[in-house]
Amino acid sequence: SSYPSFTIRVRPLTCAETRRGDRRVVHSLGDGTVHVSATSPPGTGGLQHSLSCRCPHAQVSSDRHDATFGFSAVFDAGASQEDVFEGSGMRQLVELAIDGFSCTVFAFGQTGSGKTYTLMGPLAQSETQPASSALLGLMQRSFACLLEQSQSRGSDLALSASYLEIYNEQVRDLLSPGPPCTLSLRWSKTRGFYVENQLSVDFENLEAIVGLLLQGAEPRRRRTSAHALNRHSSRSHALLTIHIRSRAGVQSITSPTRVPQPSTCPSKQGTLCFVDLAGSERVKETGSSGELSVEANSINRSLLALGHCISLLAKPRGKRTHIPYRDSKLTRLLARSLGGSGITLMVACISPSSRCLSETLSTLHYACRARRVTTRP
Ligand code: ADP
Ligand code: MG
Repeated sequence: SSYPSFTIRVRPLTCAETRRGDRRVVHSLGDGTVHVSATSPPGTGGLQHSLSCRCPHAQVSSDRHDATFGFSAVFDAGASQEDVFEGSGMRQLVELAIDGFSCTVFAFGQTGSGKTYTLMGPLAQSETQPASSALLGLMQRSFACLLEQSQSRGSDLALSASYLEIYNEQVRDLLSPGPPCTLSLRWSKTRGFYVENQLSVDFENLEAIVGLLLQGAEPRRRRTSAHALNRHSSRSHALLTIHIRSRAGVQSITSPTRVPQPSTCPSKQGTLCFVDLAGSERVKETGSSGELSVEANSINRSLLALGHCISLLAKPRGKRTHIPYRDSKLTRLLARSLGGSGITLMVACISPSSRCLSETLSTLHYACRARRVTTRP
């Protein structure tokens, strides 16, 4: 299959949306297409503008209020977390990472569209009552799959994790104890872009990696009030990276009976990175105070830079110009995953509500542009 692979997930209408009478304007036709249909209120120019965007995969009907988009997988409101894991190609991505590839999963879309739910599942009911295992997200399912594979390969994989956040163009370590500290993003000829002094924590079992996930997610989820928190987490990008080193070829100290591989065998190093992107909604320019507009600018800048890099990477190799990874911290951090032999799975999260129509169209158009990147493992 070719990459990046594109998946759309349409969440159900929430109770609140149903109560206030929102209509469902997004439908999956069951053939990998998403259909967005709405009658726009008179005098709305914005919608027409979104639809006139050049997207080869969108068929816009003559009345300019309907659009159909085609993707490699579309999950409608009824899809379970397991359906998404199995049907999005996530399992294959885990296997490719074990084979030494740099793999990245992006969840993007407006705030409230289901990015965090898709990646991590819903919040636990309480400390003692964790969320049902059926609701666990792509991350926990991938960890389980990774550890199973590791076990079946005789535990020859060395696993470690790092967890970073980019907020207002500052990189913070979510695993460091105490208040989050800002780290420097550097570049060297040998390593490319890297984060100086970031913590990387070894783990060997599911409890340990899920513990790291919760530890990192905690400051984002619980910092102050629930409202402020949601605002914070939707204004920052979070990147959890699993580093997978194959111990094959290295004589193991713990199992001296093991036949050593020839030393010429390179030790493979793959990565599996989960990116929960900041909400893509356009923050209104007017009325945003100092702090808000700095946030909005940082988000717009990095999402634009990401979209820009991705659309340039979509060009055939021979025709590629310079890829401007340097335009944002996000694209610098992801330079290796996006280019070269990197493998990408994009999950566009969408609300079905009529109130989100214009953001939904903008998410789908963003996805369409990015969809034209092709790299093969
Ligand atoms: P985001 O991270 O994009 O801001 P969330 O993942 O926090 O959005 O989802 C917003 C709300 O919708 C949450 O209450 C979440 O539990 C709910 N939700 C999202 N996706 C689904 C889904 N597929 N099924 C049921 N509820 C969902
Ligand atoms: Mg979120």
